[in-house]
Amino acid sequence: MTNSRQQFSKTYEKSFVWDAHSCLPLKTGIDLSPLERHHKAGINYVSINVGMDFNPWTDCIRFLAYFRSWIREHHNHYMLIERFEDLAFAKKTGRLGITFDLEGSVMLDTDFDMLSLYYDLGVRQIHFAYNRDNQAAGGCHGYDINLTPYGRQLVTAVNKVGMIMDCSHTGYRSSMEIMEISKKPVVFSHANCYTLKPHPRNIRDDQIDLCAKTGGVIGVNGIGIFLSDKPASAETMVPHIDYLVQRVGAQHVGIGLDFSFIRGIDDNPPNFEPALWWPPEAGYGKGMTYAPPESFPAIAETLAKKGYAETDIMAILGGNFLRIAQQSWA
Ligand SMILES: [Zn+2]
Repeated sequence: MTNSRQQFSKTYEKSFVWDAHSCLPLKTGIDLSPLERHHKAGINYVSINVGMDFNPWTDCIRFLAYFRSWIREHHNHYMLIERFEDLAFAKKTGRLGITFDLEGSVMLDTDFDMLSLYYDLGVRQIHFAYNRDNQAAGGCHGYDINLTPYGRQLVTAVNKVGMIMDCSHTGYRSSMEIMEISKKPVVFSHANCYTLKPHPRNIRDDQIDLCAKTGGVIGVNGIGIFLSDKPASAETMVPHIDYLVQRVGAQHVGIGLDFSFIRGIDDNPPNFEPALWWPPEAGYGKGMTYAPPESFPAIAETLAKKGYAETDIMAILGGNFLRIAQQSWA
């Protein structure tokens, strides 16, 4: 397996390479070996989505059950990460470390004990809302509502349980309030810069500034419609990385690729209305482009050519998200 890996730069080999968010089809019984592409690209850790606000919680638990048992059966290539210390062990043993994330909070069923259960099942990162408003917070394609009283309690609960607080897909006002209240650093695991590409899914300068003030990290994603008018690639991701570095410093920048490993499988729940969650007028749908896992080494090379210091490249590739995990995970 190690033999099949491509050649990487010394800086890249030394780095702990962190993908803050990517997606498998939300379906049980499928072959998850396309994950191997992440491994071959020299990525050491990935957070895998196990549900969005439109997935019933019973399904989220089923996805966790299936993904966990598949990873356990393929333990020579992959490793379920339980504690922060496991991350170094995964890299040392040449395996891809995996934890899970929730895109939204509806699957908590307004029960804080569910948070602990998800934690015990390996969930280490959570959004409050996914694109639409919910009982906790506003979504980025919603009505920009304030954080609800329940949402304010949820900030405390997420801090306490030890998950990374993630404001991607969250509405502007709710995200600002979460960042003001949270006692732990807040991240945008996969979000790009509104100034470079005005899109409701992208984040504004004051969100970027406040995220950095919490000690947080913004993970640039590899989805074409959030990057530029060109197809997604390392080349179109780097300007977003560079903008963030110039604005808040390299210690607050990372990568959350948002790569969908297997496309073309319908994994939506029954009676799902795609236009509600992914408004076509915002560019979602056919023709979307995605930067591949191989973008990670390409980004490292591009940053080196731009004259970035090795320490900054290593921080962006994963050192910053490692810091967040150490500070956030219980
Ligand atoms: Zn997402």
